[in-house]
Amino acid sequence: MPDRTRRTVRDLRRGNRSALLRRIYFDGPLSRQDLSARTGLSAASVSNVVAELLEAGLVTEAGSVDSDGGRPRILLKTAPEFGYLVGVDVGETRVLVELFDLELVQRARADLPLGDGGHDVKAVVERILAGLLTVITEAQVDIGDIIGVGVGVPGIVGHSPEAVVDGQTIGWEAVPLESMLREGTDLPLLIDNGATALGQAELWFGAGRGCRNAVVALIGSGVGACVLIDGVPYRGAAGSAGEWGHTTVQVAGGELCRCGSRGCLEAYVGAAALLERYRDFRGAVVPADQETALAGLLADPSLAAEEIRGEVATYLGAGLADLINLFSPEKIIIGGWAGLLLGGRMLPAIKAAAAQYALRHPFAQTSLEICRLGPEAVAVGAATLPLARLLDSGGAVDPPAPAHEPLHRRIGATAE
Ligand SMILES: [Zn+2]
Repeated sequence: MPDRTRRTVRDLRRGNRSALLRRIYFDGPLSRQDLSARTGLSAASVSNVVAELLEAGLVTEAGSVDSDGGRPRILLKTAPEFGYLVGVDVGETRVLVELFDLELVQRARADLPLGDGGHDVKAVVERILAGLLTVITEAQVDIGDIIGVGVGVPGIVGHSPEAVVDGQTIGWEAVPLESMLREGTDLPLLIDNGATALGQAELWFGAGRGCRNAVVALIGSGVGACVLIDGVPYRGAAGSAGEWGHTTVQVAGGELCRCGSRGCLEAYVGAAALLERYRDFRGAVVPADQETALAGLLADPSLAAEEIRGEVATYLGAGLADLINLFSPEKIIIGGWAGLLLGGRMLPAIKAAAAQYALRHPFAQTSLEICRLGPEAVAVGAATLPLARLLDSGGAVDPPAPAHEPLHRRIGATAE
């Protein structure tokens, strides 16, 4: 059957392109000989594919190294300006839009507070579109060079086939986010859970580099996790796996959680819950800004603050012990703005609590670390969604958009 043969050959070529592109992207600069050794592809195949990637402008030469007695070997790396990636973090109090070059160097950034309407869907969509316009204008890049826009959301993302989001804690029920954004932009959109996107970024570029099995714990106002099994986020049947914040840590008389249930981990270690307890003690002294308030709680020498900190370390340690017992990861990486503050100040106490609740054997094999990509890691993670698609496809991207069409016609009405 000629059709099937053609498809198989095409798939094989794409697989080879993808394998080589990944090695150049993650391990470059590399010579053609290095690439052959690392992928197991023949010198001829490497040479053909590299010629295609150079021709496409995706890969560029980066000097040369001497080889023993032979001709110098040309080194290859990905071309940072081949195209641009946008990462959007639909956060708890703001929408953050960042534009990166292909090597994830940030070129522009827009921070759009959500205001009193909270996560009103229309307000979120407007901010994403406005942020897109801002970063593309500021970075002075051609809209046709945008490879894709990744959006990280605090909810469960289903694809049927367009992305629909359920975010129980922010009041989103079957929100057709992709089609709503589509009314304002025709750029390629990739929507995923924020914790999952963060997990991919930490595994590729952060504390998880080189790990196959890891858990990335995201702690902000809310609490989530990305469980990476053999290098891939585990999603489960409903795509919602990793809702660690809503695992029960207190059965009788548990605190009320934002999800409507009681006794969830999030109601004990999430920043919103923590600060509520802190305000019960300290009242109006606690600043309204959550980050400043949490930093204050961590530095507060009072007994009340000490007690709250001890409780957080215990509950967080118990939650981490559950992850260790369930998944036996090589690493648990603690991220999110509150996770960075808590981990930075209390990691030894948190580790001690985890050691108390976890089984000794898996605990001994697991290291606890802090996220290395900083408080804006979800936006970086979101940008890895179009990057992953580019690498998987071996560099085949959507046809470029018409270059001279005015920006405001490409990105919705909020542009004016
Ligand atoms: Zn809950």
